[in-house]
Amino acid sequence: MHSVTLIKGDGIGPSIMDEAVKIIDASGVKINWQLAEAGMTAFEKYGTPLPEETLASIEKNRVAFKGPLTTLEGKGFRSINVELRQKFNLYSNVRPAKIWKGVQTPFKDVDIVIIRENTEGLYSGLEHFLTRDKDIAESLAIVTRKGSERIVEYAFKYARDTGRKKVTACHKANILKYTQGLFLETAKEVAERYPDITFESKIIDATCMHMVMNPQQFDVVVTTNMFGDILSDLTAGLVGGLGLIPGANIGEDIALFEAVHGSAPDIAGKNLANPTAVIMAGVMMLNHLGEHRSANRVQTAIEKVIDEGVYVTPDLNPDSKVGTIEMGDAVVAAMRG
Ligand code: ATP
Repeated sequence: MHSVTLIKGDGIGPSIMDEAVKIIDASGVKINWQLAEAGMTAFEKYGTPLPEETLASIEKNRVAFKGPLTTLEGKGFRSINVELRQKFNLYSNVRPAKIWKGVQTPFKDVDIVIIRENTEGLYSGLEHFLTRDKDIAESLAIVTRKGSERIVEYAFKYARDTGRKKVTACHKANILKYTQGLFLETAKEVAERYPDITFESKIIDATCMHMVMNPQQFDVVVTTNMFGDILSDLTAGLVGGLGLIPGANIGEDIALFEAVHGSAPDIAGKNLANPTAVIMAGVMMLNHLGEHRSANRVQTAIEKVIDEGVYVTPDLNPDSKVGTIEMGDAVVAAMRG
C-alpha cells in the first residue's frame, strides 16, 4: 500500500482530480490517499495558501498528486507551485507532449519531452522595486553550475532510460552571457559523458520557430526555468491543447505529479475540463511508484477513449456533449472492458 498526499486544488482541480483518483483506484493499485489543502481553497479556510499540515504530509509521504493552484496576481502572493518546487528541491520538471491518434491537430508525429530546470533562473523569487515610487523593478536570475549540471544530467539519463536519441539544450547565451552562458557551457560538458546520445544546442527564439515549423526534429529538450515554462505551453499547442500535458516534479527523494495547465477558472464548475493531463500525471506517478502494470492499464484505457473520440470533452471534439465525469467513467469502463 502506497501513501500519497492528494491536493485537489482550485478551479477545475477538484473535478479533474476526482476523475483521476477514481481511475487510478480502478486500476488495481492500492493507494492510501491523504487529503491535504493548498491554494485559494486553503487560503479561504486557514488564512494561508500553503498550510504546515500540507507540507508535513508531503514530507512524510514523499509523493504528492496535485491539482492546479490559482496564484493571485500581485498582492504579495508568490506562486504556490513555485514555492512547493523550491521547498522540496524538486529540481526537474518533466513535461512530455505527444500527438494522440484521436486528437485533431495540424501537426504530425510530435513526441517531445521538455525537461525544465525547476528551482533556479528567473523564478528564484528575487524580485523587488528599486525606487520608492515603484517605477523601476528588478528580477534576478540565478543560475548555478550545480543546478545546471544536475538538470542536464537528468535529461541525458532520462533520454538513455527511455530509449530517446537526442537532447537539445535550449538557451539565450548569445545575450545573457553569464547566466545562460553558464547553463550552456555546463550542458556541453555533461553531453561529453553521453556519447551515445546526440547533443545539440539552440537559442530559444530559433527553438520556438523550429518547433512550429519542424517539431519532429526535437526529442528531449532541456532548458532553464522560464524558457521551459513557455516551451511546454508551445508543445501543448502542437499536440492539441493544455488539457493533455502532464508534469512530474522530481527531486532527490520527493516527487510531485500534476497537470501543466492552471486552474482554468473560465470553465470551473461546468463539467467541461479535460481530465487527461492529470490522468497522465497519475500514470507518471504510478511508474514512479513502480506500479507499472497499473500505469499501463490506465494509459491504454485513456488512449482507447481518446482514439475513439466519442467520450471526450469539448476541447478535443467541439461537437461533444460529454463532460469531465463521463470521460472519467469511459476510461474506467475501457479498463474493465
Ligand atoms: P491559472 O491562473 O490557474 O494559471 P489560467 O486560466 O490563467 O489559470 P490555464 O488554467 O492554464 O490558465 O488555462 C488556460 C486556458 O486553457 C483556459 O482558458 C482554459 O479554458 C484552457 N484549459 C486549461 N486546462 C484545461 C483543461 N484541463 N481542459 C480544457 N481546457 C483547459
